[in-house]
Amino acid sequence: MVQPNTDNQEGNGETAPSVYRSILIVGGGMAGISAAVEAAEAGYEVVIVEKEAFLGGRVAQLNKYFPKLCPPACGLEINFQRIKKNPRIRFFTLAEVEKISGQPGNFDVTIRQRARYVNDRCTACNACVAVCPVDRPDTFNFGMSKTKAIYLPHAMAFPMKYVIDDSACELNACAKCVEVCKYDAIDLDMKSKSFNLKVGALIMATGWNPYDATRIDNLGFGRYADVITNMMMERLAAPNGPTKGKIVRPSDGKPVNSVVFVQCAGQRDETHLGYCSAICCLGSLKQATYVREQNPDSRAYIFYIDLRTPGTYEFFSKKVKSDKNVSVMKGKVAKIIEDPTSKELIVEAEDILSAQKFRVKADLVVLAAGMVASVEERKPTGPLGYDRDHFVVPDETAPGIYAAGCARGPMDVANSVQDATAAALMAIQAIHSAAERRV
Ligand SMILES: Cc1cc2nc3c(=O)[nH]c(=O)nc-3n(C[C@H](O)[C@H](O)[C@H](O)COP(=O)(O)OP(=O)(O)OC[C@H]3O[C@@H](n4cnc5c(N)ncnc54)[C@H](O)[C@@H]3O)c2cc1C
Ligand code: SF4
Ligand code: SF4
Repeated sequence: MVQPNTDNQEGNGETAPSVYRSILIVGGGMAGISAAVEAAEAGYEVVIVEKEAFLGGRVAQLNKYFPKLCPPACGLEINFQRIKKNPRIRFFTLAEVEKISGQPGNFDVTIRQRARYVNDRCTACNACVAVCPVDRPDTFNFGMSKTKAIYLPHAMAFPMKYVIDDSACELNACAKCVEVCKYDAIDLDMKSKSFNLKVGALIMATGWNPYDATRIDNLGFGRYADVITNMMMERLAAPNGPTKGKIVRPSDGKPVNSVVFVQCAGQRDETHLGYCSAICCLGSLKQATYVREQNPDSRAYIFYIDLRTPGTYEFFSKKVKSDKNVSVMKGKVAKIIEDPTSKELIVEAEDILSAQKFRVKADLVVLAAGMVASVEERKPTGPLGYDRDHFVVPDETAPGIYAAGCARGPMDVANSVQDATAAALMAIQAIHSAAERRV
């Protein structure tokens, strides 16, 4: 348990609660880990609670960052090093917050942690994978590849520790992996557990999930294998992805020449998401460069309603558009159909400027699907507010709990990091104010 701040142990009365100089961060994506290192480097104890088996969030799944087009692994690795070196930061993976109660300076948080079945002795030697007989869809690659029931979440995972998917594994009825693990790192009897932490403030950095594109009937996702989402495109283009970075048709592995990007797929549309996810236009412009880089004869078409590239991102947009094989058209895609023999996709759209309908043949269609609040389904109970789309709105009547990054709404990485720094400062202020009230 995080210990109370000793400065505040004595207090001024027997009944007043202690003030804890510690901050709980829910979500270990870019916003959460940025808030963690900022607060810890300012002298505060920090605990990160992350629901996945690794830290890094969605950024770990990206191939490159706009606008510089550098690999996200660098930015993540710098933060992981800061976490490793800082004894004030602790983290729990496979863990979620169930309940929050209390007030600034003294919150009581109930955490539920699922079993990993692999302990800290794991050296990532991979011997277990060779003997495991069970396959499961690789969720990190959106099901475009498979892993064994025991697996490393991804090649650069932090912590670099294997995990067992207990919805796929036969546990003690099999136990083949236990026999080959030389390090005694697998414990098939490990159980999920609940525990409580006392902290002075909380930061919700629970981020986002991709919108379920199967709900967008006219765009064929889920029906046609070569209609994918923008996040699937990130994995397809990534060197550690399902095709080792080769952008090919998922249906037959053939190379792609013509790729259509459909902007606002289910976004700015009250029947799906009423809002704009703010980064998808930049995402598609970035992904057009992935296509063009791999094949000099390739063509990328981007159909948009409005192309949103705020601030200095305009320079990035201009650079991508200067490529004559990238066509950017103001047109709403009406439907996508598949030629049953050639499997070629035909995208029907209306060019809004010329009021003409036209058709483009595509080997691959990428839907710019939106970003939805990740807490939509499972919200912790406690003094937290949410807007109509489930993004966290700090409750003014409940200070001491703040939100950062995409937990507050869709934003890019640079803004998520700035937001996280601001949230860390507000959390620190809440603890200070609580301590002052006690003096
Ligand atoms: C197709 C696409 C491409 C993009 N490319 C770029 C780009 O090139 N450059 C750029 O700047 N931005 C890009 N972005 C945006 C970028 O992904 C976000 O800015 C970034 O992920 C925000 O980080 P975050 O920490 O707020 O959220 P996330 O990355 O979603 O991290 C949230 C973390 O919280 C965890 N979590 C969720 N719920 C819980 C819970 N209840 N308990 C515990 N843990 C929880 C999640 O598992 C996750 O690890 C792109 C977005 C898309 C859709
Ligand atoms: S669990 Fe054991 S066998 Fe598997 S990677 Fe870790 S150390 Fe190697
Ligand atoms: S016990 Fe589970 S993880 Fe281990 S080898 Fe068998 S199926 Fe695979």
